[in-house]
Amino acid sequence: MKSILAALALGALALAQPANAQDKGLVGVSMPTKSSARWIADGDNMVKSLKEKGYTVDLQYAEDDIPNQLAQVENMMTKGVKVLVIAAIDGTTLSNALQQAADKGIKVIAYDRLIRNSKNVDYYATFDNFQVGVLQASYIESALGLKEGKGPFNIELFGGSPDDNNAFFFYNGAMSVLDPYIRSGKLVVRSGQTGMDKVSTLRWDGAVAQARMDNLLSAYYADKRVDAVLSPYDGLSIGILSSLKGVGYGTPKLPMPVVTGQDAEVPSIKSILAKEQTSTVFKDTRQLAKVVASMVDAQLSGKPVEVNDTKTYENGVKTVPSYLLKPVSVDASNWKEILIGSGYYNENQVK
Ligand code: BGC
Repeated sequence: MKSILAALALGALALAQPANAQDKGLVGVSMPTKSSARWIADGDNMVKSLKEKGYTVDLQYAEDDIPNQLAQVENMMTKGVKVLVIAAIDGTTLSNALQQAADKGIKVIAYDRLIRNSKNVDYYATFDNFQVGVLQASYIESALGLKEGKGPFNIELFGGSPDDNNAFFFYNGAMSVLDPYIRSGKLVVRSGQTGMDKVSTLRWDGAVAQARMDNLLSAYYADKRVDAVLSPYDGLSIGILSSLKGVGYGTPKLPMPVVTGQDAEVPSIKSILAKEQTSTVFKDTRQLAKVVASMVDAQLSGKPVEVNDTKTYENGVKTVPSYLLKPVSVDASNWKEILIGSGYYNENQVK
């Protein structure tokens, strides 16, 4: 009797298991670094979204070290992953590993950053990266009143890491707005440093941006004010702001320039509330993780994978079918509605 009851209880337990508890296989998620909160959120959200769909996840962070990421990806293949989801440190260094993946029938999804020079990238999910740059530059345009004909103003430009395909999209998007003002003289880049070959910031390193800003301020702004700084990422913005504070910006006599950013990271939201950084661009990593988890699931169950862009992301070998999400501009006027209202942060986190 006892054993019948036990068996019944076990059966009931099995039935009570949610459908997603079935193991649909292992998925490898390779993230670039834990040094930025956004990637930690990406990793956590990927694990959550894939688990909900019944997958087990091997999540690894490569601490911005290219050989490390390669080794982690190879290790995932050895463990038998069915799909690799990769946010590459350097989008050009994974070709050999991805060929091995293809040979083993492992699908590859480029996460947020396009993987270049490989035919073995099945799909790409990201935000509209050109639009991120447009949002950053449009913020500068309206904060300075450029559309109303105000100016001239001094501006300096920062770009992201030159090994990250996104950095070029951000820069080009921003320049699509700023370039006409630079050409008409309403915006003046006193350093003359324009173009990704001059303004990029290797590995998105805030300390590198800070050092470059120190140099720009001492070489070109000893007796002039900088009115705006195009920064493509919050981690750089924080470095740039430190540099500005170091020479006295942020006082009634010398107000902070307009400083943009990206990722809505907590230190930058705090900085926006302290009237230092001016704006950032929010990219909801929960949405990105959902899109990618659905891509994984559709691929493995032989269903059509949903994409909404089949033209933009040419990786040097092929145009990778992509799903682009919408970035949102955030500043002191809408942060609560966008970041707290959506449940991305709770209010205590940014106090
Ligand atoms: C991402 C940005 C991020 C940057 C630095 C880019 O590839 O798209 O959201 O700010 O990397 O981590």
